[in-house]
Amino acid sequence: MTDIKSMTLEELTAWLKEQGEPAFRAKQIFHWLYRGVTSFDQMSDLSKSLREKLKNQCLLTPPKVARKQESRLDGTIKYLWELADGNCIETVLMRYKHGNTVCISCQVGCRMGCAFCASTLAGKVRNLTPGEMIDQVLFTQLDSGAQVSNIVLMGIGEPLDNFDTVMRFLKLVNHPEGLNIGMRHISLSTCGLVDQIDKLAGYGLQLTLSVSLHAPDDETRSRIMPVNRSVGVDRLMESCRRYFETTGRRISYEYAMIDGVNDADWQADLLARLLKGTPGHVNLIPLNNVEESPLKPSRRVAAFQKRLESHGVTVTVRRRLGSDIDASCGQLRRKAMGAESRNAGRKEDDVP
Ligand code: SAH
Repeated sequence: MTDIKSMTLEELTAWLKEQGEPAFRAKQIFHWLYRGVTSFDQMSDLSKSLREKLKNQCLLTPPKVARKQESRLDGTIKYLWELADGNCIETVLMRYKHGNTVCISCQVGCRMGCAFCASTLAGKVRNLTPGEMIDQVLFTQLDSGAQVSNIVLMGIGEPLDNFDTVMRFLKLVNHPEGLNIGMRHISLSTCGLVDQIDKLAGYGLQLTLSVSLHAPDDETRSRIMPVNRSVGVDRLMESCRRYFETTGRRISYEYAMIDGVNDADWQADLLARLLKGTPGHVNLIPLNNVEESPLKPSRRVAAFQKRLESHGVTVTVRRRLGSDIDASCGQLRRKAMGAESRNAGRKEDDVP
């Protein structure tokens, strides 16, 4: 079966041509797909025979809302979507003054093993398809009625561990005949896969790269982020520098503040030293409590921010949206998974 939702307009045009259909049908079908139809029968301006052909040869598997939580504090909505194969993923809609942002997942689970993150606790089950990533934006928009203007790839999964899918997703979501969301309105967050950061730099996209740094020294970073054990902070910072030089885009460094782990003054000093010469800014994230983790939120966020600022570093502190609804990634999925699958062994759990 053809995964029609993951096809570009050009591919769809070529596919239809192979089927002996005129090229203009491709645009019609593309428009229907991006209007969020859930069956080919809804494509009312196509001939019955073409609809039958599509039904027989193509997949159209929209996600179902498995759970939905809406924050009473700030209107944040968290969706747990059930995919066609029964797996679940999360999407969060956040409302800011400058527009609505949707935070999407790119994998079912994650194999990066970060100690503070709920998404990785049971490992990675599978990669999402480009169509499944598109559907998160599309169906969040349709269900909530909120027009989405910004996308962050900061949900479940590691985007650069599903590289080709994410590149295709970016192309699709950017398409003027589809969702038409500009690269400058998209952020991609990575735990720091250096080879893939270099590869991404080669595309010269105008998106914002967020790097989850979380510690400036190898000892601490390797302790909380296994991905650091083979790479190290220095090599990561070198690839960040190359990324900036190639794309001209400043990097945003994510730093989740963990009590007694990465919140000391000497770590702020070292972080400031690392960032010298690479324009970028630090986003301090108050740690979200994950039940299964002994790591606790830092009480030194303001002091750490001040210390960084005293070195001339640009710092922001992430606002906590949806704190009444488990809005940080992976938490809702884990609750829905239940105890049995929670304790299941990891799949594909070797960290690169
Ligand atoms: N795999 C990607 C994107 C997913 S996580 C990455 O690592 O960047 C999105 C962001 O949330 C990352 O910066 C991640 O480190 C952070 N994060 C994960 N769990 C968290 C928690 N419990 N509290 C605060 N931030 C967390």
